[in-house]
Amino acid sequence: MRTATRTHGFTESVIRAMTRVANEHGAINLAQGFPNFPCPDVLKDAAAAALHADVNQYAITWGAKRLRDALARKYADWYRLEVNPEEEITITCGATEAMASALLAIVDPGDEVIVFEPYYENYGPDAILCGATPVYVPLAPDAALDLDRVAAAFSDRTRAIIVNTPNNPTGRVLRRGELEAIAELCRRHDAWAVTDEIYEHIYYEGEHIPIATLPGMRERTITISGASKTFSVTGWRVGTIVAPAGVTGAIRKVHDFLTVGAPAPLQEGVAAALETLGRDYYKGLAHQYRERRDVLMKGLLAAGFRCTAPEGAYYVLADFTALSELPDDEFAFWLTREVGVAPVPGSSFYSRPELGRRYVRFAFCKTLPMLEDAARRLATIGSPQHPS
Ligand code: PLP
Repeated sequence: MRTATRTHGFTESVIRAMTRVANEHGAINLAQGFPNFPCPDVLKDAAAAALHADVNQYAITWGAKRLRDALARKYADWYRLEVNPEEEITITCGATEAMASALLAIVDPGDEVIVFEPYYENYGPDAILCGATPVYVPLAPDAALDLDRVAAAFSDRTRAIIVNTPNNPTGRVLRRGELEAIAELCRRHDAWAVTDEIYEHIYYEGEHIPIATLPGMRERTITISGASKTFSVTGWRVGTIVAPAGVTGAIRKVHDFLTVGAPAPLQEGVAAALETLGRDYYKGLAHQYRERRDVLMKGLLAAGFRCTAPEGAYYVLADFTALSELPDDEFAFWLTREVGVAPVPGSSFYSRPELGRRYVRFAFCKTLPMLEDAARRLATIGSPQHPS
């Protein structure tokens, strides 16, 4: 029998695998980015009401009208972006499916897709599934984007650049000047910006600027976001795409044949949240994440990791050089097994594993007591009971 060939370029998700390892060892799971606290009641009440009202069949393929309308109002209110909910919005099974559907709609085999590195694990495989070549450009947690390197990555084969801000795993929030430079390159090379703005409401420095709001970018940007992080419902699988009508037609076709549609009752829950939660909710979300960030940062620095406080999203990429000479995957397993805190090995965020060998990534989407417990455990690294 012929073997599957499209997956040769990638392995199983290391992030999801670390969750299994954490569970096996009863470790605190700071690997996969899912909250351990409840979502707002308004989502649960509206989803439960929808279930009881028998909203239990397929929603419209590109999303329930109520959710698309609520989302169009949100983009107008927050970003002054006028979006036609009938022609420019697609609701997907998470931002993950949104990215895959968007790239499959616009990228042809042989095209190049620019990806900032380190990157959220899925982008490389997404490009490979399209038969495209990912072209990587470094993005450091503690420095501005090297715009010359970004410019050098563009070629006449560049079809798209993936822009994830606030960024996982670096914690960078791209500044207006950086985004303007990327926008100028997209215009010059007639390339798409495909954004991942799943952390749009979780940032501690700067501001969130959708690249679609910059001059000349509305017609060449596919804006992806979703409910997972903003409303703490990663298991609901509700993502969103805003894109010009022409490309939305293509995206909707891919989405239809991949998934038929996102879960109908849960779309009602997300619509209710968008309709009722005010600015205070979003401010509170970022404020609580800042507190969690500070607890984890303090614990990591005290334990001997080297790391920069993230400007946004909810991850810390930490250099463990001072603590151990193990490579990242062995260190991550050791930390999980012996110290009881599970991170993700840094190499899973890089195209070449050696680039991530000195790093592990910790997520802080957890309650303060859990993060304090993790900090206490991390403080025992290097004690005689735990030589690594
Ligand atoms: N994009 C980024 C940058 C992420 O960090 C994650 C989850 O960790 C996702 C997308 C997944 O989003 P969703 O749950 O909507 O598929």
